[in-house]
Amino acid sequence: MQRLSVAQARKEESIGKEALIQGWVRTRRDSKGGFSFLEINDGSCLNNVQVIADQNLSNYESDIKKLGTGACVGVVGTVEKSPAKGQATEVRAQSITVYGVSDPETYPIQKKGATFEFLRTIAHLRPRTNTFGAIARVRNCVCKSIHDFFQEQGFLYIHPPIITASDCEGAGQMFKVTTLDLEKPPRQGPSIDFTKDFFGRPAFLTVSGQLEAETLACAMGKVYTFGPTFRAENSNTARHLAEFWMVEPEMAFYDLEDNMTLAEAFIKRIITDALTRCEEDMKFFTERIDKEILSRLEGILKSEFLRLSYTEAVDVLQKSGQTFEFPVSWGADLQSEHERFLTEVHFKKPVILFNYPRTIKPFYMRVNDDGKTVRAMDVLVPGVGEIIGGSQREERLEVLEERMKETGLDPKGYWWYLDLRRYGTVPHSGFGLGLERTILFLTGMANIRDVIPFPRTPGSAEF
Ligand code: ATP
Ligand code: MN
Repeated sequence: MQRLSVAQARKEESIGKEALIQGWVRTRRDSKGGFSFLEINDGSCLNNVQVIADQNLSNYESDIKKLGTGACVGVVGTVEKSPAKGQATEVRAQSITVYGVSDPETYPIQKKGATFEFLRTIAHLRPRTNTFGAIARVRNCVCKSIHDFFQEQGFLYIHPPIITASDCEGAGQMFKVTTLDLEKPPRQGPSIDFTKDFFGRPAFLTVSGQLEAETLACAMGKVYTFGPTFRAENSNTARHLAEFWMVEPEMAFYDLEDNMTLAEAFIKRIITDALTRCEEDMKFFTERIDKEILSRLEGILKSEFLRLSYTEAVDVLQKSGQTFEFPVSWGADLQSEHERFLTEVHFKKPVILFNYPRTIKPFYMRVNDDGKTVRAMDVLVPGVGEIIGGSQREERLEVLEERMKETGLDPKGYWWYLDLRRYGTVPHSGFGLGLERTILFLTGMANIRDVIPFPRTPGSAEF
């Protein structure tokens, strides 16, 4: 017997086929005419397939008439043309196997009106809702675009370590990895003796694979990483997770301009693919989540990102007449409210800010000739704010060593990173795109906890 996914069974070309369709019951409706309608979903698409279960089925009274939302079934039947509107096909059941019942009294997902907050408390069941099914499919689509985009351009997919000894961002927001007994750690004087730890030194979960990616870019040319990243920042915002996925391309011989051009093409490719490959889901987000999503994304595809220096941005913000919670002054980091003002109110399009003050950016960014700014770039998009952070990297050994000392890092611990500048140094650039922020941007969802199946945030790791 041929198996058909719900997505396949909904297609006109399946009419006439006899098939097995397996999935979960979304609703059951009993008709007076002696049959029932079952709406079945299997995650293959947003919509359900309608199954007609006749009373002559051997288990009609015993099983079918008791099926509740969430039950799991296998239907053998014929795909027919549907007289109902909104669906090309329906399935007339010859037999239905019930794999798992679901008690409608206790099933946690009731019909309508469950809030996203509530659904977070049942993260194991929320993929069965329309919204979370659509998010899972769009997320998958973006991951495919990421690989397609880079593979088509000859980038190599590489794998930096997840456990690392170096703090890439130098921000001290790292989770420690240890096998020491926390009750009785070995000591050397007053401090803990990490030479007795698993790796013989303190180790952490990576905050970025960039430094390691640079080593491969300095041999292979164009590379990218795509994996989980961990930050112990205690920021309970709708845009931060303690565990998130990041894509980090790193390119030898690219300057900051090349980097910006690549970032813009990359984002546009992700949008194009989502609009064409997930048409039904994207329409759903426009209807249910944010009615401007489709027009906004289509508008972004048609125009160029604006490129603006940090200094010019500060000027725009100061002259805006807007009152911000955090005042704007040259040298201070821009806050989310400033980023969103620029993209949503002032320019109404994605903005790439570049040349940030040296003092607010990490050591590895290339220092400009003015000595005050570094070749950093952040891509800001409407609805989210920063989605990409990147830079041209400092390729000059002495300047890099100087910058490390300035930011309180010991160059000795980064000897291997400095070797890249010692032996055949090369101008190079790269950036990091946050996967979850990209999904927020595409779907119009408001909270980052809702675009990853199992969000990790301060105080929360239940599932
Ligand atoms: P922010 O200022 O918003 O905290 P950041 O400057 O720390 O971001 P980068 O270190 O440049 O971010 O990281 C690159 C990208 O990774 C960001 O542009 C964003 O898309 C994503 N990102 C960073 N931190 C987080 C986080 N805690 N949760 C989810 N995504 C994140
Ligand atoms: Mn951050």
